[in-house]
Amino acid sequence: MSRDCLFCRIAEGSERADIVYSDPDVIVIRDIHPRAPVHLLVIPRQHLGSADEVEDPSVWSSVMNAAVRVARDMGLCAGGYRLVVNCGAGAGQTVSHLHVHLLAGRIFQWPPG
Ligand code: AMP
Ligand code: ZN
Repeated sequence: MSRDCLFCRIAEGSERADIVYSDPDVIVIRDIHPRAPVHLLVIPRQHLGSADEVEDPSVWSSVMNAAVRVARDMGLCAGGYRLVVNCGAGAGQTVSHLHVHLLAGRIFQWPPG
């Protein structure tokens, strides 16, 4: 937990967010600036600055299992959804706490811009 970290404060409940799923390891919130009709952030409770800092592979299983579970529960599978991890400023990462974007509800271009 880092007091300086927005997603740590959301995970511990000291900062408001629209939480759609929560378990002992992961929270899922609605992105405050959605880039698709459905835009969620899948966030491990443990503070890790980016994908580059993950050493315990169980972090990925917790995060990805939560992402797919939420996608199924929200009925997103038939229309398709995209999972995105921006790692580092050059890839567009703006919040330095690991998170997976879950985007759905429109057609997505490939490759991403
Ligand atoms: P990234 O740019 O990959 O680091 O993604 C960070 C995401 O966090 C962006 O899509 C932001 O819109 C989103 N975001 C920033 N602040 C908040 C907040 N307070 N609640 C929900 N989402 C946020
Ligand atoms: Zn954090």
